Amino acid sequence: MPIATVDPATGETLRTFDALGADEIERRLALARSAFAEHRLTDFGRRAQLLDRAADLLGDDEEEIARTMTTEMGKPIAAARAEAAKCAKAMRWYASHAEKLLADEHPDAADVKDSGASRVVVRYRPLGVVLAVMPWNFPLWQVMRFAAPALMAGNVGLLKHASNVPQTALYMEDLFLRAGYPEGCFQTLLVGSGAVEGILRDNRVAAATLTGSEPAGRSVAAIAGDEVKKTVLELGGSDPFIVMPSADIDRAAATAVTARVQNNGQSCIAAKRFIVHTDVYDAFVERFTGRMRELTVGNPMDESVQVGPLATEQGRADVEELVDDALERGATALCGGGRPKGQDRGWFYEPTVLADVTEEMRIHREEAFGPVATVYRVADAEEAVALANDTPFGLSSNAWTRDASDVRRFERDIEAGGVFFNGMTASHPALPFGGAKRSGYGRELSDHGIREFCNITTIWHG
Ligand code: NAP
Repeated sequence: MPIATVDPATGETLRTFDALGADEIERRLALARSAFAEHRLTDFGRRAQLLDRAADLLGDDEEEIARTMTTEMGKPIAAARAEAAKCAKAMRWYASHAEKLLADEHPDAADVKDSGASRVVVRYRPLGVVLAVMPWNFPLWQVMRFAAPALMAGNVGLLKHASNVPQTALYMEDLFLRAGYPEGCFQTLLVGSGAVEGILRDNRVAAATLTGSEPAGRSVAAIAGDEVKKTVLELGGSDPFIVMPSADIDRAAATAVTARVQNNGQSCIAAKRFIVHTDVYDAFVERFTGRMRELTVGNPMDESVQVGPLATEQGRADVEELVDDALERGATALCGGGRPKGQDRGWFYEPTVLADVTEEMRIHREEAFGPVATVYRVADAEEAVALANDTPFGLSSNAWTRDASDVRRFERDIEAGGVFFNGMTASHPALPFGGAKRSGYGRELSDHGIREFCNITTIWHG
């Protein structure tokens, strides 16, 4: 894949970039290692000062970086602004909380007395240079939710961003430099995915985090496993959205639309499979489909547009294949099902709702990374859980109910890294984020996220 900014609303290539050569990669690896030697010794006060300053600058740049993101990957401009604001919020949260989250722990003296210790401390020390392989869909947020805790913990970052968001990637490096971070604390490597193996195997790289597809995750985890290096994987999802009879159906239907089409349908935590109790199926599906049909699709720079293009031509082809496969095998398109009429430029796809989906259809098991929902009818909570779990993924889940026994069952039985009741899944700096099954392992955000790339050190005094 060339490293280039290609406007998905027009298909036009706006800028291309040369990939870094071997000498430049070597120079940057050395720089990262020497930056770590210094950065690991800074105190939390200094780290917080730098990160707060970067958050201030990001606030100043909000409009400009939002336009860059929308140009590179097509998200509606208002969502791009919101993404920048969310990053600044997470940066400030880590700046003010990291010291407490990584405070020394003092095991209970009675518990460790028989170890012979006069004093024991558990300390969260940084690991070193962490490689972040990141996707284009939230090009700022995915990176920042790694970078903010990593830098606060005393690590340094190397970013290999998706090849279609090079300007956002370069902005990140520039932001941290302008904030006063020493050179090498956060670097963007403009390289293709073929260069990842060599970088990951380099002795100066301690660990890696990857957000992206399952094949990319599998490859990076295999190489890191071979090198015995820690990884965090945030992979795909096909989150269920369960609607039970006690739910507020209007609110559920309105939220379902946002949960499905956020980011033009290209969010790992988008609700993708709508599992509806038979008593409220018709009422929910009618409202949901009606709202999906009314969405405005078009130029994402236009403030009134709700759904922009898919980010890449291949991404749209993948969605088309999934939907066409389902339709050929007997699914019914309640709305959408193809490209919008009259839009011959850009990689647009209509908001689509598919019913009569069966197990033989690819879309039943694969992630639909576009504005395409599947709806299923179930008889009871047990069937809802079985269907919710009938997927290789386990990122998050959504359940709409006011019934206490439903709540207990869904909390206990849904195989996912999150269960969100009467609302939609969203990430938040103070809440752990990550998946089970093929959605990956490890957590980002909260205390769990910042500790992933720490050397948890037992300091024992006899
Ligand atoms: P992708 O194709 O896997 O790309 C993600 C990143 O991995 C890019 O930087 C890509 O580089 C790189 N990459 C691809 N193949 C690689 C390989 N074999 N070795 C090393 N690096 C490789 O995924 P995407 O299409 O950008 O993103 C969509 C996927 O990400 C969806 O499945 C979505 O659900 C998932 N996602 C998950 C989360 C989460 O938090 N769980 C969040 C967002 C997205 P190039 O661009 O150069 O190919």
